[in-house]
Amino acid sequence: MDEQKKKTDGQILEEALIWKFPHIGKEKPDQIAEAAAFCEGYKAFLNEGKTERECVAAAERMLKAAGYETLDPGKCYQPGDKVYQVNRKKAILMTTFGTKPLSEGVRINGAHIDSPRLDLKPNPMYEKSEIAYFKTHYYGGIRKYQWGTTPLALHGVVVKKDGEVIPVCIGEEAADPVFCVSDLLPHLAAKQNERKLSEGLKGEELNVIIGSIPYADEAVKEPVKLMALKLLNEKYGITEADFFRAEIEMVPAQKAVDVGLDRSLIGAYGQDDRVCAYTALMAELEVTCPAYTTVTVLSDKEEIGSEGNTGMNSNYMKHYIEDLAQTQGVEVREIFRHSMCLSADVNAAYDPTFADVFEANNSSYINKGCVLTKYTGARGKSGANDASAETMAKVIEIMEAHGVYWQAGELGAVDQGGGGTIAKFVAGLDIDVVDLGVPILSMHAPFELASKLDVYHTYKAFQAFYI
Ligand code: MN
Ligand code: MN
Repeated sequence: MDEQKKKTDGQILEEALIWKFPHIGKEKPDQIAEAAAFCEGYKAFLNEGKTERECVAAAERMLKAAGYETLDPGKCYQPGDKVYQVNRKKAILMTTFGTKPLSEGVRINGAHIDSPRLDLKPNPMYEKSEIAYFKTHYYGGIRKYQWGTTPLALHGVVVKKDGEVIPVCIGEEAADPVFCVSDLLPHLAAKQNERKLSEGLKGEELNVIIGSIPYADEAVKEPVKLMALKLLNEKYGITEADFFRAEIEMVPAQKAVDVGLDRSLIGAYGQDDRVCAYTALMAELEVTCPAYTTVTVLSDKEEIGSEGNTGMNSNYMKHYIEDLAQTQGVEVREIFRHSMCLSADVNAAYDPTFADVFEANNSSYINKGCVLTKYTGARGKSGANDASAETMAKVIEIMEAHGVYWQAGELGAVDQGGGGTIAKFVAGLDIDVVDLGVPILSMHAPFELASKLDVYHTYKAFQAFYI
């Protein structure tokens, strides 16, 4: 046997004092296959839920199958009992009762299930030069130029005059047509090329092509639009006036796929933040009898500032926890004061191609695990929830006790931009909260990338949080 090379004093000191986050695949090669297996379910969830409503429906189906019942504030629950509540079909809250009383606080894990997209305008249909279009109004922070010449699917609901809610979905089945925003050919783009990238495609140019065959009647003024409406009417029984009672989202038609020769990454639409929604949901479903009662919330409207009554800036989670409080006759403020929350959201992974917007020592990297983000915000931490050292310590302790690979990261270099999550709205309730989630490449693009090892370790972090 070779004699072990003796470490120098400097090397010993280096090991004791210096910290570097490792590549999980190097330290735990066995987990590459485990992570890949876990992510098969994640890909299926991404394909099933491309809108907040679809994600709520998928989650509710899984909860019911696992024995969850709707929360009844008048009932008395035992440790291990599982309940849920749906908010207006666009957000969902779920709980597994713990062994500790609610007065000792709950463990909240909040992710969001809305993603950037092109929404149809209230009066979307028009015809121009014998092509029929939908007018759109983009939702959330998109880079508009990325949404041209990519296949789009139509998802949503239409409420008919009699109150019937019709789900609509075109572009997901193999035999379905898809839709598309056109862009100029390079030969004629000299003038467009002079535009700033942010105006490569302008908001009023995000017009979705939906048809080009006219209804055969010379007396009709807009025959191509009429033909498109006729086809929609045949499929869903809707008329143009029904669009005023609809919510229809154009989303990338692409399914979730493996990326890379080693299949280490997942490429898909809407991973911000369905990656945290899925991992949170799985951790919630699997926990049997936690110490602290869990509150897993999949929220809507995060991408536009958590506004509206399905966003976390409304009182709906507070009301849910009030309902929980009622089951044990506790004051809700007592619960809030002692609770801890993970704001389960993604962060920007370091992209070597665009290195100058990152600060390398304080960025998250793919394959190094879930990223703990002490604060978000912009400029001098404006709009941030700046998690306390104590909160950071608690979360790090939980993760390290359970073999979770984690890393710390900021959202880009100082003054390069910024962003926010649901964290500040949770903090506003007098709850300790910190952001934790998956590092993402090409965030908010129609095709975002996440590492399977990072998805897996985010799931493990959420599991550990609920033990
Ligand atoms: Mn997000
Ligand atoms: Mn986002």
